[in-house]
Amino acid sequence: MDPITAVLQDVLDEIRGDDRGAPASYIPELATVDPDRLAFGVVGPRGRIRSVGDDEVEFTIQSMSKPFVLAHVLAERGLTAVLERVGAEPSGEPFNAISLEEGSGRPANPMVNAGAIATTGMVSGADVDERTESILTTLSAFAGRRLRVDEDVYRSESTTGDRNRALAHLMRSYGIIEAPVELAVETYFRQCSILVTVRDLAVMASTLAFGGVNPVTDERVVDERVARDVLSIMSSCGMYDFSGEWLLRVGLPAKSGVSGGVLAVAPSQFGVAAFSPRLDEHGNSVRGQAIVEALSDRMGMHLLEPH
Ligand code: GLU
Repeated sequence: MDPITAVLQDVLDEIRGDDRGAPASYIPELATVDPDRLAFGVVGPRGRIRSVGDDEVEFTIQSMSKPFVLAHVLAERGLTAVLERVGAEPSGEPFNAISLEEGSGRPANPMVNAGAIATTGMVSGADVDERTESILTTLSAFAGRRLRVDEDVYRSESTTGDRNRALAHLMRSYGIIEAPVELAVETYFRQCSILVTVRDLAVMASTLAFGGVNPVTDERVVDERVARDVLSIMSSCGMYDFSGEWLLRVGLPAKSGVSGGVLAVAPSQFGVAAFSPRLDEHGNSVRGQAIVEALSDRMGMHLLEPH
């Protein structure tokens, strides 16, 4: 085993016994997951993927799609147009909060549901299929392999997604969403239901770490400025209402999802991803966070540490 894989294995074994938290259950299909699943992966500058644990198991990307769809619309529309419809301020509120900026109706940032639905609403395409396809193409380029949607999770999201629909209706009343609500929301549900492994997420994170170039395929997916803008927003807003403490403790831009994945980015060094379905009260994976924190500690990755 090479020294980096040995560190990953060591960290995995160290946190394996922590069984606090519970998988998300507000989307019925998510509650059917095996809660003991555990995986961890990193990708370095030469595009070598190192992973341990259940690294071939697929799960839905959920909110970890948000930074990549943000990258997609930043590339398509530019920062100024995006900021007209969605802010860049940490909300300090849960991921599904119904809170929009007084007067403008702008959601706080693209990493909470309201902001992500607004971002998804900006993806161009005639219908849900075209828009989903264009998101899938971008996310697949980030991952370096063709990704697909889990239709069961999608149906489950759509059947139970009234809160997200309500948010979208509110935003449409302010003109934040121009597309018909169903178009924006169904595309968003499909985007959340894209299947990934921890290896995919580590590659996706590494594409952001290396300025928008996927180090496995060498493809430039977005330009450096887009990657930087996404990482800035992930730094302040990526971990729901735990984003401030996360930056303090771990010091890396990151994004979590309710399926139990966490991805983190050490710019110019590593893309990191972990998967463990049990979540804490903020909706963040308990062991996923512990893994990334332990790695950041051991390898001195905190961005605000003198290097
Ligand atoms: N599909 C989920 C929702 O919008 C994503 C939530 C998440 O991962 O935070 O409810």
